[in-house]
Parts: sequence; structure tokens; C-alpha cells
Amino acid sequence: MNLSCEDVRDLVPDLLTGRVSAAIAVATQQHITRCGECAAELEVAREVSRWRTPAPAGLHDRVVAEVVRQRPVRAMRMQLAIAATIALVLIGGRQLAILQKNRVDPAAPSVQAPAVENRGPGWMTVENALNTGAASLGDLSEEQLRQLLTELES
Ligand SMILES: [Zn+2]
Repeated sequence: MNLSCEDVRDLVPDLLTGRVSAAIAVATQQHITRCGECAAELEVAREVSRWRTPAPAGLHDRVVAEVVRQRPVRAMRMQLAIAATIALVLIGGRQLAILQKNRVDPAAPSVQAPAVENRGPGWMTVENALNTGAASLGDLSEEQLRQLLTELES
């Protein structure tokens, strides 16, 4: 069997793991005795594979466990965000109806949103959220979303 340089380089991964037939192994050996380039290529590949370290034991299991552990939290946060969005839409619609009912002069200046007072984490009130739109629900923490829902329910 006569192997070309291309054949030998395609076979390198299999040669390293020993997944070649005896005939291929012999043909490769014949090729590299007369082809310095392929011999060098195979030598480098052997050296690299020798230095390749296996993943630490249990790494795969730890990664999977971590992904599974975090999934329910994300799903719960998403449900809270959806519930809060629905509540805001309902209240926003009601507020809009009230605004339209009370409108006496169409030329009157539009209602100004009150200035937002930042009181640190959890400062967002339903009123602020409705009037300013300063923060999207997606930016709120789980705690802030819960607080928002509690306010909406009260
Ligand atoms: Zn060659």
C-alpha cells in the first residue's frame, strides 16, 4: 500500500490512538521512513498528545449538577417577572382609563412623571415603576420583583 503525505496526515489522529489496521500501520511506517516531513508531523502530534491532560475527575458531574441547580431559580424568576408584567399592564390600563376620564382640556400639559428617588436596593415602588418606567422588569432582582408583587396585591 502506497500512502500519500495527505493520507498520512489524515491518519495522524487514528495513528496516535492505535485505531488503524496492521496494513495501514505498516504503510505509514514505510512512508515516514522516506518522508521527513510526515515523520516530523507525526512526532509533533505524538508529543502534543503526551502532554494532553485529562479533565479532573468529577468535573463533568460538577458542571451538570451546577446547571441543574441553577435552572429552577431562573425559571422561578421568569415566572415572577411575567406575573409582575401582567399586574403592571392591568394596573396601567386602569390608570390610563382614569386619566382619560379626568381629561378636561386636551391642550393641557401632559402629566409629568415624578422624580425618582433612589433609596438603594428595593427602592422601586409600583408608582415609580408605572410613572417613570425607569427600570424594566428584567432589570429587577428577584427580591424587587417579590416586593413589587406584594405591593400590587395589597
Ligand atoms: Zn509524507
